[in-house]
Amino acid sequence: MWHIIGQPQAVSLLESSLNRGQLCHAYLFVGPPRVGKMTLALDLAQAVNCTAEAAPCAECPACRRIVAGKHADVRVIDLNSNHNGAEGRPKAEIGIDEIKELRNAASLPPYEGKHKVFIIDGAEHLSNEAANCLLKTLEEPPPQVLFILLATKERLLLPTIVSRCQRLELHPLSRKAVAEALAERRGTDAQKAKLVASLSGGCLGWALAAEGDERLLAQRSQKIEELLQVAAAGYEERFAYAAQLATRFGHDRPSALDALKLWLSWWHDLLLVKTGCGDWITNVDQEAVLFHQAAGYKLAQIKGAIDSLQAAGEQLDHNANPRLALEVLMLNLPLKRG
Ligand SMILES: [Zn+2]
Repeated sequence: MWHIIGQPQAVSLLESSLNRGQLCHAYLFVGPPRVGKMTLALDLAQAVNCTAEAAPCAECPACRRIVAGKHADVRVIDLNSNHNGAEGRPKAEIGIDEIKELRNAASLPPYEGKHKVFIIDGAEHLSNEAANCLLKTLEEPPPQVLFILLATKERLLLPTIVSRCQRLELHPLSRKAVAEALAERRGTDAQKAKLVASLSGGCLGWALAAEGDERLLAQRSQKIEELLQVAAAGYEERFAYAAQLATRFGHDRPSALDALKLWLSWWHDLLLVKTGCGDWITNVDQEAVLFHQAAGYKLAQIKGAIDSLQAAGEQLDHNANPRLALEVLMLNLPLKRG
């Protein structure tokens, strides 16, 4: 049984390769964060090590140990793992030591299963040295070893690594599919399932995590309030907010980036409403507010705000001065009429 929901193309390709006994030695799963890359990787690790006839069965000891992270032949390498196997502080990159250790481990035969499986989660975070070391291993793959690379930002990978892997793209699910999965797996009520599904952008892993995290939805409500206040405010108040957000960026980068992401989804919703596509908005619980607000802006103003938000996001990605980038953004967002 495959745990992954959706992704029919990827699953059918893997299934037919498994059935023909023609699995590649390296795969690259590409897709947005929490779309299901790790779930599919663990499914595949189960499929090659399962002891039942209909693999992956999800129930035999091998399948259970893999899901529990206790199988000796299945290893996950990510920003949290250390080369000695211990959990440590998250790092900025996956270094050469981890990949050297991986090479050594890959050269030994499987310990308890049929295949050794190395899952590199966040392959775009491999240091240059580590990527080149991995490339050598991919060029001369040891037998009975399967490499599965997971990446969100494929453009940051060495092209030579990409060309050594069978590449599979994972796509966001439809809102309907996410809502159905929430109802089925968590018993989520219809209204909440609809909201979480539309906020998830089709990434079921995010939706499942958010569904059970009241704090996350409360933080979103707070950020929406901030956003509405700033949209209605004059420059003085906006600059104060830019300074506050820049400080937040300094000590909690993900939270500040989340705020900007929400702003972008909000203005995108305003664009949808303005152009008569209100059925497609993301912030489905804020429909009335969005319709009211959209009436106060011209289409060009909304488009301009989206451009400015995208530009600010890119500048922050490229380590621009956050306060400066956010102040420019505050200047560019349209002032409320009247
Ligand atoms: Zn099994």
